[in-house]
Amino acid sequence: MLSDKFLVKPGKEIDLSKIPTSNSFDHKKEETKKLLKQNVKRMFELQNKLYAQNKYSVLIIFQAMDAAGKDSTIKNVMSGLNPQGTQVYSFKQPSAEEHDHDYLWRIHKAIPERGRIGIFNRSHYEDVLVVRAHYIIKNQNLPEKTLTKDIWQRRFRQIRDFEKQLYENGTVIIKFFLHVSKEEQKKRFLKRIDKESKNWKFSAADIDERKFWDDYQKCYEEAIAATSLKHSPWFIIPADQKWFMQLAVSQIITEQLEQLDISYPKLSKEELNKLEDCRKQLLDEK
Ligand code: ATP
Ligand code: MG
Repeated sequence: MLSDKFLVKPGKEIDLSKIPTSNSFDHKKEETKKLLKQNVKRMFELQNKLYAQNKYSVLIIFQAMDAAGKDSTIKNVMSGLNPQGTQVYSFKQPSAEEHDHDYLWRIHKAIPERGRIGIFNRSHYEDVLVVRAHYIIKNQNLPEKTLTKDIWQRRFRQIRDFEKQLYENGTVIIKFFLHVSKEEQKKRFLKRIDKESKNWKFSAADIDERKFWDDYQKCYEEAIAATSLKHSPWFIIPADQKWFMQLAVSQIITEQLEQLDISYPKLSKEELNKLEDCRKQLLDEK
C-alpha cells in the first residue's frame, strides 16, 4: 500500500532533507494515466456511497511550497468526482474579519458537510507555517500575553484537538505535503517566466518566499511531526515528477476511503414494502 510507504508515523521526527522528492518506484510514466484513471473511477464509486450514506465527510488537505503542484494535483485527481459532492477551498491571507476571530474560525466554517469530499488548498497549517516563518503573528490581534515562545507548540496541540474533534464527529482527514526540491521549484518558476501562458502564475513575491526556503522546511518538519496522528495522518509525497505525485495522491485517497464503512443505506422492511406499494401504483396508472 502506498499509504504505508508515505505515511508519517505518529511521534516520528522528520528531516525533510532526507526524504526523497523524486519517485523511487518502478511505475512508468506511460502506465500512470491508466492507473490514475482507475483510481479516479474507484473514488467516484466510493463518493457515491459516501453521499448516499450521508454520515461521514472527508477532508483532504494539501500543503506545499510554491509551484509544488497543488493546483494541478487537485485538478487531475478530483476531476472525475461528482461536483455536487465536492467542495474546494483555497485559503489566502486572512481578511480583517477573519483576523478578528481565532485562526480556526474560517477553517471550521469550511469543513465539508456530511456526505461530501472537501479539499483544502492550504489550510489552518498556514498559521504555523507562513505565520511562523515570517513571524507575522502580530497581525492576528492576539493578547500580548499569548505571544510567548511556546505559541507554536500550543497551536500544534490546538490543531490536534481540533482535528480529533472533527474525527470524532464523522470527518475523515487526509493530509498531503507535496515535497518538491528547491532545484525543481527553480525550474518551474523559470517555466512560468518563459512561457506566456504561465506568466499569470508567477509573482515576484514567489522569489522572496524562496529565500525563506530553509525556514519553511523547518516549520513544515515540526508541524507535520507534531500533527500526524492515526485519525489525521500526514503523507509526504515526492513531488518532482507530477505524474507520480498525482498517482500517489489518488492511490492513497482511494486506500483511505476503502477503509471506511461506507455503503448505500439499507432500507428497513417497512420501507421496502412502501417501495413495493409505489411500484404497484406506478404500474397501475391508467
Ligand atoms: P499559486 O500556486 O497559484 O500561487 P497559492 O496557494 O500560492 O497558489 P496565492 O494567492 O499565491 O495562492 O497565495 C496565497 C497566500 O496566502 C500564500 O502566500 C499563503 O501563504 C497565504 N496565506 C494563507 N493562509 C494564511 C494565513 N493564515 N496567514 C497568512 N498568510 C496566509
Ligand atoms: Mg502563490
